[in-house]
Parts: sequence; C-alpha cells; structure tokens
Amino acid sequence: MRSLLALSFLAFSASAFAQVPAIVSQPSKLDPAWQAKTRALYETAVEIPTVSGRNQMPKLAEYLAGELKAAGFAADDIKIMPYEGEAGDKTVALIARWRAEKPTAKPILLMAHMDVVEAKREDWKFDPFEFREEGGYFYGRGTYDNKAGMTGIMMSVLKLKQAGWRPKRDLILFFSGDEETKGNGASLGATEWRQLTDAEYALNSDGGGGGFLANGTSLGFALQTAEKTFQSYHFTVRNKGGHSSRPRPDNAIYELATALKKLEAHRFEPSLNETTRGYFKLRAMQEGDSALGKAMRAWLANEQDGAAADAIEASELETGFTRTRCVATELTGGHADNALPQMADATVNCRILPGVSPDAVLAELKGVVGAGVEVTKDGTYSGRATPVSPLRADVAKAYQDAVTALNGKNVPVAPYMSAGATDGSFFREAGMPVYGLDGSWVIIPEDERAHGLDERMAVRAVYDNVLFWEMMLKALAGR
Ligand SMILES: [Zn+2]
Repeated sequence: MRSLLALSFLAFSASAFAQVPAIVSQPSKLDPAWQAKTRALYETAVEIPTVSGRNQMPKLAEYLAGELKAAGFAADDIKIMPYEGEAGDKTVALIARWRAEKPTAKPILLMAHMDVVEAKREDWKFDPFEFREEGGYFYGRGTYDNKAGMTGIMMSVLKLKQAGWRPKRDLILFFSGDEETKGNGASLGATEWRQLTDAEYALNSDGGGGGFLANGTSLGFALQTAEKTFQSYHFTVRNKGGHSSRPRPDNAIYELATALKKLEAHRFEPSLNETTRGYFKLRAMQEGDSALGKAMRAWLANEQDGAAADAIEASELETGFTRTRCVATELTGGHADNALPQMADATVNCRILPGVSPDAVLAELKGVVGAGVEVTKDGTYSGRATPVSPLRADVAKAYQDAVTALNGKNVPVAPYMSAGATDGSFFREAGMPVYGLDGSWVIIPEDERAHGLDERMAVRAVYDNVLFWEMMLKALAGR
C-alpha cells in the first residue's frame, strides 16, 4: 500500500485535462546517462510480473542483486532470503548491506517491496506487464506501487557508488516479496532476520510521496510516521430457529440489526498523537476560517471535543484520522425464506488508532452491543498495535530540503498517519521507528492508480526520485 497526503480538499477543476500538465512535461535534472540507466532498471522491474502465485520474485531479486554486484558491492553482503508468502507462495526478500568503513552510527534501513497487485490484460488498455512510455508517463503495473520507490533507492545507491561516495554508517536495502498480501517478509525482517536488518530507523519508500493538482498546485509530501491497525470482527447472533409461520419475539436477524444500529451510533474516543497533531496544524492553517478549519482548531485545543472530531470525520478526505473507526462490511444469515434464522453474522472492519490493541477494541465492541450478541475477532488476520514513530528533526529536515530542491519552495512536508498498514508496521511493532517517504509524486486525482487500472508514474517523478534518494542518503549517512 502506498499513501498520499490526503490534501485533495483544495478546489480543483474536475474537468479532465486534455494536455499534459506543465509539471509533468518539465524535464528532470537527472543527467541523461543516468536517466537511461534508471529507465532500463525500472523497465526490467516492471516487466517481471511479481504477482503472488506467479513465482517471479526470485527473478527480480536476482536481477537487482546482479546490478549491485556489478557496481562493486560485496557478494557476501547481498542476500536473497526465501520464505513463504500467501497460500504457501514461494517468494523472496532481498537484503543488501553497504558497509561504512568506520561507522559513526547504527545503520539506516531502506525499504521497498518487489511484489505488485494482480493486473489483468483484459481490464487494462494494454498489457500491464509491458512497460511503455507515453505522453510524459511510464505505464505498467507497479510503476506507482512500489517499483518507482524501489528504483529510486537502487539507482541512488548505484550512482553514489560509482561517484566514489562512501556512507559514514551502514545502509541496508530491504526489499520484501509479499507486502501486498501477507507481509511475512517484513514480519521476518523485523524478527528472525533482525541481525541482517537491525538499524537505528527505517526509511520506507512505500509510505510517503507527494501530490500536485494538474495546475501545479502543491498538495504537499507525506512523512508517514504512524499507521492504523487493521482488524476485522464478527457480530454473531444464534437462535434455535423454527417455522416462519410461527414467529417469536427473539429473532437472530432483528437482534443483529439492533446491534449494528448501536455500532452505527457509537463513537470511539477521539485522540491526537504527535503525527496527527502536526498534520492537523498544517491543515487548519490551509483551511483558514472555513467551518472545517474552525473544527480543526477546536479539536487541536481539546482532543476530547467529540463534536469537533465528528465535524472533521464528516469531511470525506479527513475520515478516520481523529479516532478508531469500525464499520459493518459484510452480512450473512438465515437459511430458507420460510424458516426463522438460526444464525446471523456481520463482519465489522476496524481501523484502530496506533497504540490501541485490537483486544481493547474487542472489549469496547462487546460493551456497545451488550449480551446476546457474540463479538469475536476475525481469525484470518490478526492486527497488531504499533507505536507512532517519533518525528525526527534530521529526517524531516532532509526530506523537506530534498523536496524543496526538486520542487521549489512552498511545497510542504507534513506528518501523516496511514489508515492502512504497510511493511513498516512490522518494524514499528518490533521497536524500530519507520519513516514513510519518497521523492516521487502524482497528479491528484488523475494519477491515483495504485492497485488500479492503467497504473502510471510521471517520467519526471521517476527520474527526480533518484536525485531525491541521493540527497537523502548524503544528508543522513554522509556525516
Ligand atoms: Zn505498496
């Protein structure tokens, strides 16, 4: 998953633009020789269909490992780690270390994922695994999520190596092979393989990035420092049933419906953390004197102000940021049109604030619906509470400086909490701070196509991202 700053609140013309926006057609400052090398690696990566179940991850990992070795990285420091992904899928992670001669600090982990979401030829305008350039864009599955980020990290490292630059602390590349499905690679990376990945903190190319409107207006770049926890629950009501010609007062479907109405009315307590406080301070400034801006200021002044939090949640683009949210998503029940239902079940999906455990939410849900309705955690996915990573001044400054160098002044970097989880959550849970950031950007809403059809990334964004990672590594590992 890849998240963007949800700042699409700014009024934009909804009319589809016919021309390529100026921001897309401007040339990148990356020199032509490195543009060609970047394009070659990106093209190769996109054309390897690294979808779960297709057994292509080893091919991509070996290709990337070969590029690193050819650039002079020690073979001993490049590891391809086999493991099982979704449904026993044989996948791999790539872990490569660039050693500092005399490290001045603990390593920095550089994260991306090699896998992509399935894409079908018949749904797309063209073959999703045939790389193409058209109208200022690169097209293909993974061009956005997350092969642009992976390419940015790879090329910056190769470019710095060739220039003779040396890191003052170890840099560790960690590219997983099942982020889009199970996250087993990140889970192993944060635990069993920790001696290979241990770092002071991680930079995750899958968690940040920027947004612009087609007219060039900046929507900012996200610095993802927190992720909500995903957990589904079941509300189940059982009944002895019977013939529908003889209805009784107790009825599984009615009782489940009553429980769901209670859930609909329930509000979890709103709560601010360092990330959302920073985010809403910026948003309140941008909103000015609008009703939404006032609600944001009221909530920042008093996080227990439920009415202000409600007003923020009601704004479509800010939904989910003020509190844990749970919503009914699936319904089953009954077995015949002429029988009283013996069972009714609803799936309730929750996105839980960082630091709150799924068990605490379970207890709260039980209290909401009362006795008579079983509330259980869905067994297929067990969410884990993750802490908010503390905002680091050095990372925030390096990010802002690189964004400014590439995109000009007045392009803000803002702390961001994702409503979904990335590989970063496993490292956060294991005690390593993670900063989701990237130098690539998209036009909103036209280019928001991660996991979707005709996925694309502006050519300039791909090339600028190499310069972006180069600046980040120099700033954070160069002294
Ligand atoms: Zn992703």
